[in-house]
Amino acid sequence: LKDMWARALESGHPFESSARMRHADGSYRWMLMQCTPLRDETGQIIRWYGINTDIEDRRAAEDALHQTQAELAHMTRLTTLGELTASIAHEVNQPLAAIVTNGEACLRWLRRAEPDVDEAQSSVERIIANGRRASDVISRLRAMSRRGEPQQAPVRINDIIEETLPLVERELFHHRVELRLDLTPVLPPVLADRIQLQQVLINLVLNAAQAMDGTPDGSRQLTISSGIETGASDVPMVTVAVCDSGVGVDAASLSQLFNAFYSTKPDGMGMGLSISRSIIEAHTGRIVATRNAEDGMTFQVSLPAIKESMP
Ligand code: ADP
Repeated sequence: LKDMWARALESGHPFESSARMRHADGSYRWMLMQCTPLRDETGQIIRWYGINTDIEDRRAAEDALHQTQAELAHMTRLTTLGELTASIAHEVNQPLAAIVTNGEACLRWLRRAEPDVDEAQSSVERIIANGRRASDVISRLRAMSRRGEPQQAPVRINDIIEETLPLVERELFHHRVELRLDLTPVLPPVLADRIQLQQVLINLVLNAAQAMDGTPDGSRQLTISSGIETGASDVPMVTVAVCDSGVGVDAASLSQLFNAFYSTKPDGMGMGLSISRSIIEAHTGRIVATRNAEDGMTFQVSLPAIKESMP
């Protein structure tokens, strides 16, 4: 702030800035300071005018809005996937049950002292019909979930990170999390759906912030890094890692993190990581969770790099 003042005084340009100020009663409130110079007819600055506006209530409203947006992005996926899972389960379960029943019946006809080939044959026909029905249901569901859905295009992982930050910045501020970015400047693009990748990142960042709620202030460190490494069969993989200094996970739970409905939070749905993994796998990528040597967890997403063909 002192610098801004100095620069404004030197250049004579009006300026504004917001800061938290301590009031006479000891409370802190966000204030907006706006300063404008008054000049005489020769252009000389005679004096500076300043206005202080109390923007605490406005800030609070904005914070609430941002938090809702971030939660909304987190929830949208959850709801869609939850509904989809229920309908898949129901529609596919019936033909599967029929297949099993008919398979058992078929065996019984064949195991008779005198096998009844005709009956066995009709059981097998019913098995085939039900198998077809199940696969029709699946292609229908697939077509449905494709509608208005993932738009894959070449994107830069650093851009995705930068676009996601404004959505989670308030949350990080509220959890008093210190964010560090460690981005590798020049990376090949990846083929991906922007919104979906943002959602994965939001999930990882919100989880990390929540995992640090019990960590003392000042040591809540969140690092988002990007890089490149060589994956299986020598394909270069672009990586993004979210590393926190939170409670971490015990070795026994590590393998469960990505399971649907696994949650240790009182109000958790346990769908965030499960959905994140299906999104990343649909992009032929990988997501892995590792325990840090010190405190906390690192979640790393890797996506196959594509040839440079975009600006
Ligand atoms: P939810 O956030 O609703 O619990 P998630 O699928 O996003 O669902 O996470 C599942 C569980 O994995 C969490 O409840 C938590 O126990 C654990 N978890 C996820 N991220 C972290 C992390 N960064 N540090 C520690 N535990 C984590």
